[in-house]
Amino acid sequence: MIEVTQASSLQGGASERIRFEYCIIAAGSEPMRLPFIPQDPRIIDSTGALEVLREPGRLLVIGGGIIGLEMACVYDALGAKVSVVELTAQLMPGCDPDLVRPLEKRIKARYAEILLNTQVTAVTAGKDGVQVSFATSDGVKSSNSYDHVLVAVGRTPNGRTIGAEAAGVQVDQRGFIASDQQMRTNVPHIFSIGDIRGQPMLAHKASHEAKVAAEVVAGHKSAFDARVIPSVAYTDPEVAWVGLTEASAKTQNISVEKAVFPWAASGRSLSIGRDEGFTKLLFDPATRRLLGAGIVGTNAGELIAETALAIELGAEGADIGLTVHPHPTLSETVAFAAEAFDGTLTDLYLPKKR
Ligand SMILES: Cc1cc2nc3c(=O)[nH]c(=O)nc-3n(C[C@H](O)[C@H](O)[C@H](O)COP(=O)(O)OP(=O)(O)OC[C@H]3O[C@@H](n4cnc5c(N)ncnc54)[C@H](O)[C@@H]3O)c2cc1C
Repeated sequence: MIEVTQASSLQGGASERIRFEYCIIAAGSEPMRLPFIPQDPRIIDSTGALEVLREPGRLLVIGGGIIGLEMACVYDALGAKVSVVELTAQLMPGCDPDLVRPLEKRIKARYAEILLNTQVTAVTAGKDGVQVSFATSDGVKSSNSYDHVLVAVGRTPNGRTIGAEAAGVQVDQRGFIASDQQMRTNVPHIFSIGDIRGQPMLAHKASHEAKVAAEVVAGHKSAFDARVIPSVAYTDPEVAWVGLTEASAKTQNISVEKAVFPWAASGRSLSIGRDEGFTKLLFDPATRRLLGAGIVGTNAGELIAETALAIELGAEGADIGLTVHPHPTLSETVAFAAEAFDGTLTDLYLPKKR
């Protein structure tokens, strides 16, 4: 039995000691801050952005990751004149570049600016707008004024803010609290789950881990053994991927065979007036099993679940291709891509594999 001291703001900062047999730490993460950004109501983070700005006007989104781009899409739909600035060479770093391209093409045509390879170096809150200075990776400097600035440069785990060390729990430099496959930290009856446990910081990973921790506490022989965790950007078009990416296959020297089905050949995609999407599957050429998938297009986030299940079950291309998919649906594109891998696709002419 352990005792902890809990500070309660409801009680005017008074402390209260509570006792527990088990504890699950799920204190999450908070938006990362840039030290030079001043406090100003026109400068918001991803939490502030959820309280929709009435007149967003010229909105600069600092950070072209998933959260920044989702917020950019929302505010574009609400009539803001959106600009996005991203430090790296690619929007949505971590995602295969080909999957981002249809999104980038669409938003380039709609947004005021997409600045890549560009760092924000200073922000000042002026009377007539928020002044932002930029420097490109080639050293070109510029500045511009915006009505609002949304900072979405990542999230930092709350491990260093909760005093977990007092109970002997190890917290790393960045604020993560590691735990094993049963979610136990280095203190066996204290568990950690969710954003505070590690990447990826996603709700479905957090709830999966939470179930494992609760089951272990209840005495079940549970452990986290998911093979893959899907990622989805709820942008327009949506971008989703799971398992091995092409980029990580390359860096890890893993041999893969890629099969792509372009949605321009999908009747369902054409019927909804959107033809920019595609479904990409990566297979192990030796075992013919699915290793990874990437989908861009309408409802990509829904479609990726089938490929996650296929990876979990160790499905081969033929298992997916020979599963009868309903017509006309976007889900067919998963089967068509698998057929393209197997050489059995009849919905699109592809040159014969050597
Ligand atoms: C704008 C935005 C959009 C997102 N969209 C998605 C999405 O579409 N899909 C997805 O999978 N994930 C999404 N995420 C990520 C997702 O929200 C997190 O991965 C998930 O909430 C993590 O769950 P958690 O339980 O670890 O932490 P949280 O959900 O953050 O919960 C932690 C809780 O602990 C509380 N807390 C912190 N410190 C203390 C303390 N000292 N004492 C008491 N309580 C404390 C916090 O107030 C908070 O309520 C998004 C995140 C953001 C910011």
